[in-house]
Amino acid sequence: MPRILRINCRTKEYAFQEVGPYVNLGGRALTSRIINREVPASCHPLSSENKLVFATGLLGGSTAANSGRLSVGTKSPLTGGIKESNSGGLFAHKMPKMDLLAIVLEDKPAKEAPFSTLFISEDKVEFRDAGDIVGMDNYPAHDKLLEAYGDKLVAGMIGPAGETLRKTATIQFTDPYKRPARSAGRGGVGAVMGSKKIKAIILDPEVNNKVAAADNDAFKSARTNWVKILKGHPVTSEGLPGFGTAVLVNVINEAGALPTKNFRLGQCDHAADISGEKMAETIESRKGKTTEGCHTGCVIQCSQQYNDKDGNYLTSGFEYETIWAFGANALIKDLDAIATMDRICDEKGMDTIEIGNTVAVAMDGGIIPWGDGQAAIELLKKVGTDDPMGMIIGNGVVAAGDAFGVDRLPVVKNQSMPAYDPRAVKGVGVTYATTAMGADHTAGYGVTANVLGVGGTVDGLKKEGNVELSKNLQVATASIDSMGFCLFVAFAVLDAEDGVQTMADLVQAYTGNAFSVDDLIALGANAMKDEQDFNERAGFSKVDDRLPRFMEIEPLPPHEVVWDFDEDEVQGAKA
Ligand code: SF4
Repeated sequence: MPRILRINCRTKEYAFQEVGPYVNLGGRALTSRIINREVPASCHPLSSENKLVFATGLLGGSTAANSGRLSVGTKSPLTGGIKESNSGGLFAHKMPKMDLLAIVLEDKPAKEAPFSTLFISEDKVEFRDAGDIVGMDNYPAHDKLLEAYGDKLVAGMIGPAGETLRKTATIQFTDPYKRPARSAGRGGVGAVMGSKKIKAIILDPEVNNKVAAADNDAFKSARTNWVKILKGHPVTSEGLPGFGTAVLVNVINEAGALPTKNFRLGQCDHAADISGEKMAETIESRKGKTTEGCHTGCVIQCSQQYNDKDGNYLTSGFEYETIWAFGANALIKDLDAIATMDRICDEKGMDTIEIGNTVAVAMDGGIIPWGDGQAAIELLKKVGTDDPMGMIIGNGVVAAGDAFGVDRLPVVKNQSMPAYDPRAVKGVGVTYATTAMGADHTAGYGVTANVLGVGGTVDGLKKEGNVELSKNLQVATASIDSMGFCLFVAFAVLDAEDGVQTMADLVQAYTGNAFSVDDLIALGANAMKDEQDFNERAGFSKVDDRLPRFMEIEPLPPHEVVWDFDEDEVQGAKA
């Protein structure tokens, strides 16, 4: 029976509970319901009243392809609203093998209390001394945990950014290659874990209970069809495995929507130097790996291993968003410098989107020169130390804008925008404006119809059809996150007649509970309602659904378009 494990980080008491009112929920639907019901919306995100929830999806632990994503939910220190931060790695598939649907960290100890490592076993939780890994970067700390717990280690951990409560802090998770390279990246979830004085969470390597589908024959049949759907679409069978998500650099640049020089231009002169094609060529010449999965059971394999000039491992999970943020938006041309920054972000435990945008703001404020990769690397190294510059950078774009006197800040609800300029990809812009998460492309990826022609076509330069597009994608995405699927399955699902039905069939066969396409849609819509409800009670209103003023008055080259929706026009994108 799946259980919810609650751990009080102050008293060190814990309880394994039945799911009770949270039955039939998983992933994001579960984290958002728990946060909405149990966390006072007005609380400070780093206070004892906030909670940190780790939830596996409805298909967690199953052999359905691409169903091992983890949802991490909390009240965000960055946005002040609800947050679901999504990660790959081994954690989500391991939880059901310990009969766990969710782990909820509650309360917090005194500020001066030492950090602990939580060791979670089948019916027991231990607070172990984390003194040997506190203050360490994630890779060396993870190596120490591997030494202590062996090759079957599955951990979630924070780096120096999380320990020092920075608003860009991530939680890093063990990947299939024994690296802490997968991140719950957005919204400062690592700072909440740091406030609770938990350096790492380890799931007992010795517990690996068998998980079986309730209706094995139906599950196997749906699973076969599911793989066929994923393998039958060019984006999920060729584009993503061939060049990673960085395949988008050239595509979005061509569309005139690649934010460049802190969102001044829609095209970048050196796009070819930082493209997915260039990355793949570099990886191959250095005997890295152009394709790998972030969790077991991924059949798309958009990740990769990027080696340095000497052929030694440098980083992995080297995403389009990261390459864009440091490459186009901060004008850094050297892919090796960008890869080094990606690794530093994983080491310190920092969100590459927020940090990349922050570096661009620092350049805009004259703190370091535009395009200077080495200066950016030195800035990043200061995060997690007691250097005041590191404190500013580690707190993200708004903190940096305030400190450096920069008035063009590409944020919504205090979270910085990812790699699509909303003026030229308005379907994504509507999502940035209306999702409860703050600017977040993964909440409703309008690039599909605006640029890629997947799931239909809607002109990204015009207003028509983009509110509806965003709304449909936001609901679908919340459902996908709640089932535990990787978001990229959407490319194939949107173009497959039986795609949504097959996802519903998988859930029904795995859980044994009736689950229709309507239930699937309601799962996502209800998650969004929980999120909107929490944010309203936290003090958000429709004026927070605006994009930054500069985007309304500065036309974006080459299409010379502005953001021309007002907050009333985008309300229809909400659930
Ligand atoms: S497609 Fe990429 S993000 Fe999705 S599960 Fe596979 S490796 Fe992870």
